[in-house]
Amino acid sequence: MNLAELQSRDTGIIVKVKGTGSFRKRILEMGFVKGQKITVIKNAPLKDPIEYRIMNYDLSLRRQEAELIEVVMDESRDEPVHENFTGILSDKNHHPSIRSPEKIIQVALIGNPNSGKTSLYNYASKSREHVGNYSGVTVDLRKATLNHGGYRIVLTDLPGTYSLSDYSPEELFVRQHISKGSPDVVINVVDGSNLERNLYLTTQLIEMEVKLVLALNMYDELQKSGDQFDYKSLSKMMGAPIIPTVASRGRGISKLMDAVIEVFEGTAMDMRQIQISYGTDTELSINKIRQVIENLPEEKKEISSRYCAIKMLEASQDTKKHISKWKNFPAVMEVVNTELSNLHKATNEEPEVLITDSRYGFIAGALRETLTKNPNHKRNDSELIDTVLTHKIFGLPILFFILFVAFFATFKLGEYPMLWLQSLIGIFGTTLSRIMPPGPFTDLLTEGIIGGVGSVIVFLPNILILFYCISLMEDTGYMARAAFIMDKLMHKIGLHGRSFIPLIMGFGCNVPAIMATRTVINRNNRLVTMLINPFMSCSARLPVYILIIGAFFPDNPGLMLFLMYAIGIVMASVFAILFKKTFFRAEEAPFVMELPPYRVPGLKATLKHMWSKGSQYLKKMGGVILVASILIWGLGYYPRNQTTATRPIKENISGFDSPEQSGSGAGLTGKASAEEQFQKAGNLENSYIGYIGKFIEPVLKPLGFDWKMSVSLLTGIAAKEVVVSTMGVLYKAEPSETGETESLSQRMKNEKYLSGDKDKIGTPVFNNVVALSYMVFILLYFPCVAVVAAIKKESGSWKWALFSILYTTGLAWIASFIVFQVGSLFN
Ligand code: GDP
Ligand code: MG
Repeated sequence: MNLAELQSRDTGIIVKVKGTGSFRKRILEMGFVKGQKITVIKNAPLKDPIEYRIMNYDLSLRRQEAELIEVVMDESRDEPVHENFTGILSDKNHHPSIRSPEKIIQVALIGNPNSGKTSLYNYASKSREHVGNYSGVTVDLRKATLNHGGYRIVLTDLPGTYSLSDYSPEELFVRQHISKGSPDVVINVVDGSNLERNLYLTTQLIEMEVKLVLALNMYDELQKSGDQFDYKSLSKMMGAPIIPTVASRGRGISKLMDAVIEVFEGTAMDMRQIQISYGTDTELSINKIRQVIENLPEEKKEISSRYCAIKMLEASQDTKKHISKWKNFPAVMEVVNTELSNLHKATNEEPEVLITDSRYGFIAGALRETLTKNPNHKRNDSELIDTVLTHKIFGLPILFFILFVAFFATFKLGEYPMLWLQSLIGIFGTTLSRIMPPGPFTDLLTEGIIGGVGSVIVFLPNILILFYCISLMEDTGYMARAAFIMDKLMHKIGLHGRSFIPLIMGFGCNVPAIMATRTVINRNNRLVTMLINPFMSCSARLPVYILIIGAFFPDNPGLMLFLMYAIGIVMASVFAILFKKTFFRAEEAPFVMELPPYRVPGLKATLKHMWSKGSQYLKKMGGVILVASILIWGLGYYPRNQTTATRPIKENISGFDSPEQSGSGAGLTGKASAEEQFQKAGNLENSYIGYIGKFIEPVLKPLGFDWKMSVSLLTGIAAKEVVVSTMGVLYKAEPSETGETESLSQRMKNEKYLSGDKDKIGTPVFNNVVALSYMVFILLYFPCVAVVAAIKKESGSWKWALFSILYTTGLAWIASFIVFQVGSLFN
């Protein structure tokens, strides 16, 4: 029978994993080896995926994947039989490090996701962290320095991995980080409450012959469980010091650093090179491959020949690429191929499976001698919480309620500090323009720079609150449940449950949403999630909708607003499916997601997580917004026409008008005299951006837009609420007969074509169809500069950022064209 056929609470024993490539590999590495027990916990509210427990941790699998795992019903309920410790302790020691005169130790933090690396990193590094970016793979490589025992220790926080094979970009990235020889010492962070699976990665680190220190993290949980663990003996078996730590509270970190120094200096007691034995047949093959590799002595220095041989048996493409430069590559490949088939014949198993089995066998053996499980302990807390949070009826409503609370906090609570900041920056700008002599430089400073940077800073409170909520969801373990609940729906558009949260966040602001796509593990899915995110109507688009709906669809505003959001969601779904069918077809790592036990995160840790995300937002977006705002400001300011010029449009280029100000439909009325506004509009018309607006007007004419709308769209690139404030200025240009006090929406309704096509002159610029077409365009076109910058940063290349500009704008044009042309037929 297969795993999907087991009922809730049933326990089975794994017989075989079918399927191919990455799925099989990943699932083997997660502990699905022959003889393991697996228990069904429950189905997700929508019946798929299913939650399982294996090796004392929980994970979710999709039904179709569970069908690939062959099990037998467990009747015996005995522990699987494993031999004792099977490692070989060799006398060979790690070569001592060359002591660098600067006394710097490069240390890499490596471990499973959720093992506590980031907590450890944040504690150890205190405040001296700086964020480094790595091109190519979209992972953050963070480095921090600390002083300890007379050394400068440079810590690098790497992405979490379960293994070091080359199926996911993260794994490859971590492996290359190690093999390129960058770290002097590797700290392997191990989750003490889930040793068996965590030590799998350790076995691979041992094989890579790195200098290793194990941080036995979550030691508090281990102690609480009542398990007896003789980690000192395990330390001898693993050939590396093991230091208990509680990273979330900073315990044991100083001792850990002592151990790092000892290992670096070569004085650590337990430091030894050990070998995992893979059983007679496999060892025979390994030795044969080693022999050919060693035929060329000068080449075996880079990586150990044993490691290389094992990797070749595991069919590692990365290793193959590496050795393909060797002179004896054909000879090596010949032996590898014969050995692969010999091994298969002799054991009737695939070498990959044999090797994984042996590693888990090694771990089971070592733990058998050192870990005594408390027979009375059951991990009940998480299960209890989950009976409610992933309940088949309450699960979804609870999820939506939690999201609602997070959004409420972000946008309603965040509004107060946002308004304070806004007036503070406003005062600062006004004061500055009063003190400084008038001129382009002052204007650049107050309108371009303070306006530009200010527009980023005012959103910081919202961003911080949002990130706090996300950190809280991540750190407690609820994020994985949200993905678990939503996976079936997301799967329908080709995505993973984890894409759900970033998409929902997009309704707030697409920038943090795109940064949140990091929680999407699979790179293809992450890119798709990023690319469709701009279709989620962010809060900046709301003022535009409110203005236009208020003016042209006063009878059913709610329905129209809903329609706009719905169009966005439909477009996002359609494009997700489309992208998955075209650019991102490649099959990738499967949906195997760990459901970590619920944990109460430390306040300090969560605040740190929040702050590290928030400061990244500032650094990354600040720069781009600054440059873009100066650019748009310049285009709206020059060329200066001396006769009419007083001051160019204020605030409106920078995105400074808050939704509250501009959304009321009042535009800039009341802020400046009519005369001043008139001049500003005249200025804008005769500025470069005005020229550009007129220049692109023909392109946008088929959509029903005039040049003023075109200019508003251009300035809206900086931030979409700017569309409203730009229109506020432009539609003031020709003083209307009815007087000054009318609102922007009234003015828009009265606006008539004064030039251009003969038959158009005198007709209104706006009607319902134009208004709808315009809203559709604003919904879909160019994500704002900050979003483009975020896509660039998170995808690691300009390619996708440019692509997102082109395809959204292209789509916007087509959609608005259809709306306008078809709508005009009926109008
Ligand atoms: P990472 O994914 O490896 O970076 O792990 P994190 O540092 O994000 O930690 C995952 C979760 O475990 C968070 O909720 C932490 O607060 C929690 N945590 C980390 N270290 C410990 C520990 O030693 N004991 C306990 N009880 N919780 C911890
Ligand atoms: Mg982390």
